[in-house]
Amino acid sequence: MTVRTRVAPSPTGDPHVGTAYMALFNLAFARKHGGQFILRIEDTDRTRSTPESEAMIMDALKWLGLEWDEGPDVGGPHGPYRQSERGDIYGQYAQQLLDAGMAFRCFHTAEELDAKRKQPHDGPIAPDSDYVDLPRSESDARAAAGDPFTIRLKVPREGECVIEDMLRGEIRIEWQQVDMQVLLKSDGMPTYHLANVVDDHLMGITHVIRGEEWISSAPKHLLLYSSFGWEAPKLCHMPLLRNPDGSKLSKRKNPTSIMYYKDMGVLPEALLNYLGMMAWSMPDGEEKFGREQMMADFDISRISLGGPKFDMDKLSWLNGRYIREDYDADGLAQLLVQWAFNADHFARLVPLIQTRMTLLSEFAPKTHHFFAGLFEPAADDLAVKGKTPDEVKQALAWGWWRLEALSSWQADAISESMRETANLTGMKLRDFLKPFFVAVGGQAVSTPLFDTMEILGKDISRARVKTALDALGGVGKKAESKLRKALVKAEAEQAAQQAAE
Ligand code: GLU
Repeated sequence: MTVRTRVAPSPTGDPHVGTAYMALFNLAFARKHGGQFILRIEDTDRTRSTPESEAMIMDALKWLGLEWDEGPDVGGPHGPYRQSERGDIYGQYAQQLLDAGMAFRCFHTAEELDAKRKQPHDGPIAPDSDYVDLPRSESDARAAAGDPFTIRLKVPREGECVIEDMLRGEIRIEWQQVDMQVLLKSDGMPTYHLANVVDDHLMGITHVIRGEEWISSAPKHLLLYSSFGWEAPKLCHMPLLRNPDGSKLSKRKNPTSIMYYKDMGVLPEALLNYLGMMAWSMPDGEEKFGREQMMADFDISRISLGGPKFDMDKLSWLNGRYIREDYDADGLAQLLVQWAFNADHFARLVPLIQTRMTLLSEFAPKTHHFFAGLFEPAADDLAVKGKTPDEVKQALAWGWWRLEALSSWQADAISESMRETANLTGMKLRDFLKPFFVAVGGQAVSTPLFDTMEILGKDISRARVKTALDALGGVGKKAESKLRKALVKAEAEQAAQQAAE
């Protein structure tokens, strides 16, 4: 048997360090066993998937040196490798399950299902469809009459599912805990579960190595394999990356985009090494190891299940070792040029500074924020005359949340959004922008803010705004939910006012 593994990201956001972590372990396992590693893009969620996100994910994985043998860009014998291009195969497989009595058409509306879920019930999950046992002839008649339906998996209500996990051994989950998963939505699009199982089978995947958050989905997947009469791949659920406080790694607490670490000046080999260290160690205990060493010595049974903490300090320490031990002065000089001291980067900065400098020697001090990581602004520097610290916090938080929702990270879009948010807060634009200048540019007088944010990118800008919010005491969960509600209200009021004008 040739080992075949895959990483299957959904292109719905920034390239996540968790995706690289999964890719690394799948690649290591495939390489160790002389097998193949595949990249599949799971873009069936048409509203959230974007080509930009897909391109960023592929660039980020390549930057890290995580190359794939088959994928949307390089092709392969089992393509297409983008689910949106795989035509109606999922519909055909759903139909096959329907015909075999392993799935059923469900005619409930979303509202009906919602109401059902809220009903009091004995078992762990609410009885979720009245249509499980609807005779096929009636189901066909309703479908022929044009009634909208989803196709759902018939999950047994008794007994338990036994999952053999490569790291965790036997995991038992009662079928009662498993919902009757929708396989095909009413618009004919497959859900993750159906598309993932069909593709893993058709692409000959032998080992599925993925995050532990998918353990609860494993029974559905195993049921799908057996319903189709297919052999299931071996399953391996990796420990999830965590924030230093032990919670699941999240953008709210920690930067999660690979691009952030690249922009901060982390070397790809150090980041890859660090991701490897999250769940694995070299037999000799050495913490610094290269990709090839890891692949050569890889042994999946040495993966440790403790919650690995993704910690910037430790990553910086490791990065420092690479800088000191693997580069001579020339090599380091080249790294710096590649990172930010290059003509392309200068060409973007120079127009922002040309009219603001009289001596060439002013260039570096006036543009230092383009060559820096995070600042630690003092609360006093962020203060706005006549505004309380809470008002400043609200301005920063509202401003940032609205920027976060932008689909394009360009100066004109940033400018428009910030002007609107200033209106929402009732602050003068100048006052509203001041804490952003300090947060992002490091000082109240800096290069034009919107262009600066565009050039710095979303990841560094986000991290700097967060640091500023932290300097003002931070925004806890409760405060955040209050501030978000207030923002929605202010937006609604503004919209109503505009409609009235
Ligand atoms: N598309 C899923 C994700 O984004 C893949 C999970 C899996 O590996 O099955 O995490």
